[in-house]
Amino acid sequence: MDSREVVLRNRPVGMPTRDDFEIVTSTVPVPSKGEVTVRNLCMSVDPYMRGRMIDRKSYVPPFQVGEVLTGGAVGQVVASEAEGFAEGDYVQHNYGWREALTCAAGELTPLGELAAPASAYLGVLGMPGMTSYVGLLGAAALKDGETVFVSGAAGAVGSIAGQIARVRGCRVLGSAGSADKVAWLKELGFDYAFDYHEGRLLDHLREGAPDGLDVYFDNVGGDHLEAAIFHMRPFGRIALCGAISQYNDTEPAPGPVNLTMAIGLGLTLKGFIVSHYQNMADDFRRDMEGWIQSGEVVYKETVFDGIDKAPDAFIGLFTGANTGKMIVNLES
Ligand code: NDP
Repeated sequence: MDSREVVLRNRPVGMPTRDDFEIVTSTVPVPSKGEVTVRNLCMSVDPYMRGRMIDRKSYVPPFQVGEVLTGGAVGQVVASEAEGFAEGDYVQHNYGWREALTCAAGELTPLGELAAPASAYLGVLGMPGMTSYVGLLGAAALKDGETVFVSGAAGAVGSIAGQIARVRGCRVLGSAGSADKVAWLKELGFDYAFDYHEGRLLDHLREGAPDGLDVYFDNVGGDHLEAAIFHMRPFGRIALCGAISQYNDTEPAPGPVNLTMAIGLGLTLKGFIVSHYQNMADDFRRDMEGWIQSGEVVYKETVFDGIDKAPDAFIGLFTGANTGKMIVNLES
């Protein structure tokens, strides 16, 4: 069986371009004992992958030029030489960016009977959904009824974070990059949503939260973080989830000019990676499945079709091309 796959051709400098990627075709090996062959149904592109394209030490090792990229994907078993895996089984794994693969059974997570479409396991029921959950309830220690600001609020993580805060009876503010996204945030029940291209960030925060913010869920960094610090209430908490406004910077960006305000206000700024909170995985699954079933949490996806569109989907994360989770559909 052949598989088309995406190779990193160059390390991007600044905004990634299509020339940084190359589509190649390889032959998928027949499985040996203990191995399984999987045809991918869908794959994820995520902002953290931009960091892995830089040759530097981080919490995950860098991608290598000339190698096939990796990332979250859901597929179906097409051949198995491993106990516990049969043709047709749904599995989740980290061999995205390709149409098919053979790997050791231990690298696959069986999904059993799907409780939602396969792509949901890459979004609301997967890593981004869990990031929202642990960021708010773990890192930011959210309490019922607080006032919360979420940036990047129409994305995979932000849209779920805002809805979890609503479920917890909070007042929720959200920023996003277009009028359509702002309209969607209002549909989701955000109390105040704004396009960050319009007006001053701090003016929006003052209007949406006249008494200040208890929690800021930061997906964007830079000017958003600075504005939020200006508007935090005493002992407020900031969950540092991501800083997408800085991922394509070619020079280190200066920190917030007002960081010293954190001293007098007794603020907590807590960075986190979703994997720091593995202990919350069962609670996340139970709560999120319940909220989806009850309709308290809804989700959206932006879908690009075909492996050859995977680089465009990835680049689109940095131009605001997605509302909700960005997914690449690999079903032909
Ligand atoms: P999104 O689905 O939010 O996609 C990225 C979005 O970011 C775009 O649609 C765009 O929306 C927005 N964006 C892009 N460039 C800028 C910019 N310069 N300024 C402001 N907004 C911008 O991605 P995710 O939900 O997957 O990730 C959101 C954040 O969470 C990222 O920073 C990511 O790195 C982080 N993250 C952290 C994890 C952790 O464990 N700590 C795990 C997963 C994600 P718009 O149109 O609104 O500009």
